[in-house]
Amino acid sequence: MQEHLRQKQMKLNQPGHDFYTSRGTHVYFKNQLKNPDISPEAVVASVEEKIPDHLLSEMEMIIIGHFKEFEERYISAFYKDGILHISNVQESEEDLIDDIVHEIAHSIETPYGYEIYADQRIKSEFLQKRGLLYNKLNALGYKAPKSWFTNTEYDEDFDNFLFQTVGRDKLRMICTGLFINAYAATSLREYFATGFTDFYLYANKTLLKTISPLLAQKLFFLHDIKNLDESI
Ligand SMILES: [Zn+2]
Repeated sequence: MQEHLRQKQMKLNQPGHDFYTSRGTHVYFKNQLKNPDISPEAVVASVEEKIPDHLLSEMEMIIIGHFKEFEERYISAFYKDGILHISNVQESEEDLIDDIVHEIAHSIETPYGYEIYADQRIKSEFLQKRGLLYNKLNALGYKAPKSWFTNTEYDEDFDNFLFQTVGRDKLRMICTGLFINAYAATSLREYFATGFTDFYLYANKTLLKTISPLLAQKLFFLHDIKNLDESI
């Protein structure tokens, strides 16, 4: 009886069955989730509960699986044309939630591009932090062209410099108090997406408000649909 129940439970939890959420998001499995403890239904339901509807407007489909882009760019998720591509290798439900929310942030960069970026406030906050990062790294003996730090776009050479030359652990220490995490330093888009993820997943927004006040202000603005209605 015990065993039978357990098997039944495992079957219910078994990832790999396509499903639609109540708001119509299609979740499709290209590959099975490697971790059997994760319930994708629970994860996506939790995401849709945390994020307001107007910011979910671009998310039509989530494909869970392995994509060659993951290896080429050392990433575990990306957004393209209404589809969130998310790795099937996840440590925990929290990691899967984090990946999905991060890509939702990228999905709204185009439709809300004006509201997010036009006033240049996030950009100026980001560039000021990049300047401080340059000084910190320089003081520690890491020499790199200043132009890397004033470019707001993703740059592979700069990324390699940060995560390989300096290294993930050291970079994390150097970024403490400057960026909410090391990945936020890689480009303006990642600065926005990491902030968005932090804003929706961590109830205590004190850290984000302290470290990135202009970004936090922007996220409060985007959160309230009334602000967006007025600005259109
Ligand atoms: Zn990203």
